[in-house]
Amino acid sequence: MSFDHFDAVIGLEIHAQLLTESKIFCRDSTHFGAGDNENICPVCTGMPGSLPVLNRQAVEFSIKTGLALNCDIRRQSVFARKQYFYPDLPKGYQISQYDRPLCENGHVDFLVDGQMRRVSIVRAHMEEDAGKSTHHGDYSLINLNRAGIPLLEIVSGPDLRSAREAAEYARAVRNILRYLGVCDGNLEEGSLRCDVNVSVRPKGQKELGTKVEIKNINSFRFIEKAIEYEIHRQIDCVLNREAIVQETRLYDADKNRTFTMRTKEDAHDYRYFPDPDLLPLTVEEAWIERMRATLPELPLAMATRFVRDFQLPEYDAFLLTQERELADYFERTNRACGNPKAASNWVMTEVLRNLNETGKTILEVPVPAEHLGRMIRMIDTGVISGKIAKTVFGEMWTSGQEPDAIVKDKGLVQITDVASLERVIDQTLAENAANLEAYRSGKDKLFGFFVGQVMKATKGQASPEVVNELLKKKMQR
Ligand SMILES: [Zn+2]
Repeated sequence: MSFDHFDAVIGLEIHAQLLTESKIFCRDSTHFGAGDNENICPVCTGMPGSLPVLNRQAVEFSIKTGLALNCDIRRQSVFARKQYFYPDLPKGYQISQYDRPLCENGHVDFLVDGQMRRVSIVRAHMEEDAGKSTHHGDYSLINLNRAGIPLLEIVSGPDLRSAREAAEYARAVRNILRYLGVCDGNLEEGSLRCDVNVSVRPKGQKELGTKVEIKNINSFRFIEKAIEYEIHRQIDCVLNREAIVQETRLYDADKNRTFTMRTKEDAHDYRYFPDPDLLPLTVEEAWIERMRATLPELPLAMATRFVRDFQLPEYDAFLLTQERELADYFERTNRACGNPKAASNWVMTEVLRNLNETGKTILEVPVPAEHLGRMIRMIDTGVISGKIAKTVFGEMWTSGQEPDAIVKDKGLVQITDVASLERVIDQTLAENAANLEAYRSGKDKLFGFFVGQVMKATKGQASPEVVNELLKKKMQR
């Protein structure tokens, strides 16, 4: 047996911090960046006698997400205590949902290398985050600002078969959360956290192998690399007749390997039971429908519409819909120029490249979409050449000026006037008599050289179509 005789089985648990103003069971602020232990109260520090009160906004964000993930929303869900000890979990238990979660039986469709894939969502349940410990040599510090921040844990079925698929699925979920505005999806800051379950089994075998969990991977690229490493490690174990231990492992990005963190608890170790301090959460049909009415167009639907209505290639459509703001920017550019493919090209190349180089996000783009759209119209109507447009775009980016003003001030209008172009061409031909002779005796490739010379002489402002036409005529014997 070798590597090719195995299948990998992968499932993801994604923890999304919900963007509520206050915590899930108390009124403390959720704002990141407050001083240590500033956002705490008796409830989230587990003081005896304090009582949790559920945050309505957290429930609404969870319902919206559940609907976007095609889940059933349970009319009555139950908060349970999940008992375990951590220094940064002051109650000695985490309030979570166990056998009756708010959302279940959903699915997510997403694209992997041009192929549509569907992953089932087993459940998405509400819970509270724990605090944070930082370790300094021989002492540790505990910050409880994070304790009680609302989380939605989204659990996929074991449907993923490769590291790449898993990373694309995680991206798709992140995009949906960001479109909904319920989570900022920041893996580096931990507002989105991915735990991965990986097992391997010989091809054709029905039952699952022993699964290993890899926790807290903080980038999509590392999700892919950690899973790849883990699949290889497990297959090696099987081939060497070593047992795979059910455990939780951590991924070390510097060494590109996973290592043991602790052996994994089973559900019964947590002694779940319904929290007696919280009533069951009842969600009426009307509330669900109100939430459904607030759902925005989601990334996949938007990409499908771009392909159908604008005849964009799938690649363009999916790239443009990665972020809602980017898709909006494209749509506004397109409305201003009425040329979807050109709008898409400019957004995907010049706009994204400049954003990348200047470390800006699409929200900070210095060229309004309407300006870009108007500039594209100027190309389409022959006012400026595509080459000059690059200069105009650069100028719009740095000065924020409107394209019409830039073209006028800098005298960048395209030269289409036949008489003046003929003068330039005659001069160019006279200066390059030897090359002209060579062209006429069969060196066809020299045509491009002459086009280049004329464009150079006009500082790129000559209309390439007119130049081509005139040159062809004049260069004939
Ligand atoms: Zn509190």
